[in-house]
Amino acid sequence: MKIQMIEKRKPIPDFKNIGWGVFFADFMLEADYKKGKWQEPTIKPYGSFKIEPSMCCLHYGQSCFEGQKAYKRVDGGLNIFRPMDNFARLNKSHERMCMPELSSEYIDELFIGLKTLLQMNKDFVPDEKDGSLYIRMHTFANENFIGLRPSDTYKLFIICSPVPPYLNGFAPTKLMIPEHYTRASIGGTGEAKSAGNYDGTLVSVEEAHKLGYSNCLFLRDGGIITECSAANIFFVIKDKIVTPQLDGSILHGITRDSVIKLAKSHGFEVEEKIITINDLMFEAYHGNLKEILMTGTAACVIPVSELLYRSKVIKPEEEVGYFTEMMYMILTGIQYSRIKDPFDWVTKVI
Ligand SMILES: *Cc1c(COP(=O)(O)O)cnc(C)c1O
Repeated sequence: MKIQMIEKRKPIPDFKNIGWGVFFADFMLEADYKKGKWQEPTIKPYGSFKIEPSMCCLHYGQSCFEGQKAYKRVDGGLNIFRPMDNFARLNKSHERMCMPELSSEYIDELFIGLKTLLQMNKDFVPDEKDGSLYIRMHTFANENFIGLRPSDTYKLFIICSPVPPYLNGFAPTKLMIPEHYTRASIGGTGEAKSAGNYDGTLVSVEEAHKLGYSNCLFLRDGGIITECSAANIFFVIKDKIVTPQLDGSILHGITRDSVIKLAKSHGFEVEEKIITINDLMFEAYHGNLKEILMTGTAACVIPVSELLYRSKVIKPEEEVGYFTEMMYMILTGIQYSRIKDPFDWVTKVI
């Protein structure tokens, strides 16, 4: 790994008044794929790339990303959460997008790079009450040509951004269910974290904002519940925890998986299955829909207090339910090393 130092460090921002993902820490990591091989990574000052108008990912995509966070412990050290799962998921996204695999040896090299990067950016990690450091790993095709075939060259980078608690922390939010737009379908690319899965959701999320909703919950095939634009969804129905099954259209959220494992380890029954909007309305009508929660790295665990579908309002019995709050407390407790980490999910970077 090569390291380029910086001449002048940026002033540390006021974390209390920072927007989401708009400020970037001093150092980034960069690595190229060329001549059939991922090359040695470099840590260098955060800065721009020079690109040509014919750079292929601008035209046809082939661009994937990952999101994780660094959490500051009370002793001042830094934790990251299940980092190897992010590398593994990036490889899965690459497979779907015809992008080159990262070998396990190369992932080990990148992981050392990531830890070094975080040590170098440590002053940009807010204290727990003010947020965390979002880590964005991204890969894109950068050969200059406009034909439709996989690129011969790629770039990987990791940038870090101090972020406030998402949606002001653990406060209930409301979701709109779009009638005319879907996010993904069977056989599509929904389970890849590829850039092209996100621009298609913007139009419905903009519409949701206009109606006072923070995000969308997407259906596929006319009624099967999938997930939000960047978060998975769970329901508490009677005393069961229910979430849409991983059917190829749904992103394999690491938070989703963590909530499932935690719920089971606390004795809850968890069902991953097909849930239709009609099923959900039926359960809500009969008072069985106790809680709704969304999960993701950016959001952590967020209680959902209302869904809007075809001008009908669906409300869970509890605005902030017991299960939702319990998952939030346990997950953040593990991430910040306030409580035991029974699954060995946390890596201490410092
Ligand atoms: C990233 C993402 C999630 C959440 O995944 P985590 O690993 O929990 O952060 C869920 N859905 C979509 C569409 C996503 O892009």
